[in-house]
Amino acid sequence: MSNHVSRRKFLGAAAASVPGAWSLANALPSHTSDADQGASVTSKNRIIDMHVHFDEKNPNFIADFLKLSDRLNLTACMLTPFANRKIVADAAKQHSTQIIPFGFVDLDAPDVVKQVEELHGMGYRGLGELEFVKKPYNDPSYFPVYELANRYGWIVLFHTGIVLRRNFDEPEDVASGRMRPIYLEEIARRFPKITVLGAHCGNPEYEWAAEIARWNPNVFFDLSGSTLTKMYARLAEFQKIFWWSATGWHSAEWTVKTPNNDLSAFIKIVFGSDTNLNEIESVVKQYHDMFEACDVPEQTRNYGRDAR
Ligand SMILES: [Zn+2]
Repeated sequence: MSNHVSRRKFLGAAAASVPGAWSLANALPSHTSDADQGASVTSKNRIIDMHVHFDEKNPNFIADFLKLSDRLNLTACMLTPFANRKIVADAAKQHSTQIIPFGFVDLDAPDVVKQVEELHGMGYRGLGELEFVKKPYNDPSYFPVYELANRYGWIVLFHTGIVLRRNFDEPEDVASGRMRPIYLEEIARRFPKITVLGAHCGNPEYEWAAEIARWNPNVFFDLSGSTLTKMYARLAEFQKIFWWSATGWHSAEWTVKTPNNDLSAFIKIVFGSDTNLNEIESVVKQYHDMFEACDVPEQTRNYGRDAR
């Protein structure tokens, strides 16, 4: 969701290690240019934030983001409305270490397939955040978009779970029931070259989200939104939801593909902030608190670091 009010109070200090996923490192091609400005920008050990909405209301958004990116050593998958595709594509070319362009399209738009092809031609690397759909995510009318994403080997970020209400006085054709995490299972299986990312871990269907991630090597979730605030006093419960660490109860491919044979279930969680630029650091702190509460091993926390 892009319209967040300021409601996170856990202002933290330094950027903690935040997780991502081994497959994300595979899915995000190495940058080829080093044209990035700024002496502090390095391509090593960066936090990858999968969930940064481009803010079209802020004319200085790119500049503001780059400053923050330098300070936190953070790369954003920048979720970009189709109308803003050019400015973000250009910024991503100029600052390839810091900005990875993702196309924020409406799955119900009549020309959505054409939009996705155009985004691909402009150097976009994925789609998201897909949301506010008129039909459930697994509706066959959306398959042409998924087929393209599959062909491109893209990451696709889906909103999952409860969704805010924008208009209180007018009828809205919006329902969180169309965006349940269970629909991602079918997409991941039908389109195995898509890396399927669910935002918000299906809030509140965390168990479904985690179980789908467990058996599908190409499914991951972020914990953005209200979840880490809601669960603040009971963060250790994530150990019960992501329960299969060091057991054999997971996809067999996992053992083959994870670096260092890391069997922590927490590699299925990626870092996503989904907030204003000035609050991203506080979300990093929230993730860090969750890791501490769940005794997440250091190497698992560091999967989110971009080691390109
Ligand atoms: Zn969302």
